[in-house]
Amino acid sequence: MKWGKSRNCIRELFEYGTVRKAQIGVENVYDFSLGNPSIPTPECIKESMIRILTEQNPLAIHGYTSAPGRQSLRKAIADDLNEKYGTAMEAGDIFVTCGAAAGLAAFLRGVLMPGDEVITFAPFFPEYTVFTEASGGVLVAVPPKEPDFQIDFAAFEAAISEKTRCVIVNSPNNPSGVVLSSESIRGLAEIMNAAQEKYGHPIYLLSDEPYRELVYDGIEVPCMMNFYDNTVICYSFSKALSIPGERIGYLAVSNKMAERSEVNFAIAGASRALGHINAPSLMQQVIEECLDATADISKYKENRDILYNGLTELGYSCVKPDGAFYLFVKALESDSKAFSERGKAHELLLCPADDFGCPGYIRISYCVDKDMIIRSMPAFKALIEEYK
Ligand code: PLP
Repeated sequence: MKWGKSRNCIRELFEYGTVRKAQIGVENVYDFSLGNPSIPTPECIKESMIRILTEQNPLAIHGYTSAPGRQSLRKAIADDLNEKYGTAMEAGDIFVTCGAAAGLAAFLRGVLMPGDEVITFAPFFPEYTVFTEASGGVLVAVPPKEPDFQIDFAAFEAAISEKTRCVIVNSPNNPSGVVLSSESIRGLAEIMNAAQEKYGHPIYLLSDEPYRELVYDGIEVPCMMNFYDNTVICYSFSKALSIPGERIGYLAVSNKMAERSEVNFAIAGASRALGHINAPSLMQQVIEECLDATADISKYKENRDILYNGLTELGYSCVKPDGAFYLFVKALESDSKAFSERGKAHELLLCPADDFGCPGYIRISYCVDKDMIIRSMPAFKALIEEYK
């Protein structure tokens, strides 16, 4: 059988944590494995759900919607993007998906031909490999640019070729928390425009943005569509609204894309082939009412500061994350899996970054209870002392 052989290291660690917590008590395990939002869902989500469920006809609430989503929601999303980023998107450019994962899978399935290459930048979300390979493509990872994890232009130019069909960026980034600067995006766009010219075919920029709203200290996330015409945004409401289990997000195809209509059709066709019928109907209505809402992300910033300051004071090294809810820390030995194992001996669940294309690092998810972070500090201290 083709599927099921490769394992998801994050999930494995999480499952280990579940067993361990049952053995020694939840409060004794420092679980930094999963990126499951930990701050309350905004009230407007609950209020909107209750209102829709009590006031509307159940058949209208729970029935099928059109495959790309309710027209009014698609229009509201396009208007929202236009207002925020000065774009000129239309409802027809929006395809409502079951979260970012479904959006990534549908876009790649829609545009890739067998053997096409998809470039991304390490560290990257491990599912890019799965979605690319399932679509017949090959993922090419540009090595990380340490220590700031911006874009290494020379390495990117070396990776791009006639086979390149798509480039995936993810900012704010999982796992580093880094937000790409305008300078990085401008350089990326220049190289991609030159490559399109040279090879005579479009190269799509797929901007995976589930953490777009999760930024701290007034940092801005530039809109990729304003830098590069062949851009598709993949967005998710999972993280900003703390609703990852509700499965809702969207793909937005830039109105400046020359092959805009073909790409919109390709997304629709690929989604169909992947078994998509429509994104959850109730959630589509809720999102339309709550498009402006965001969970209170100040709690993530507080967690980031405690963890970043605490770990750097102890002697760990990592880039200060401007966004998302992850800290990307250099392991204290070259084998990050071995380091993660040694963390387990102190009840620290730290995800080795090999599958993120960045061996030698570990990812810490700080979408957790603040008290757990504070309680975990002696364990981090004991761990670093083992290496002195
Ligand atoms: N892309 C990145 C970078 C992610 O971190 C995640 C989830 O953690 C996803 C996509 C998938 O998000 P969703 O829950 O919306 O499918």
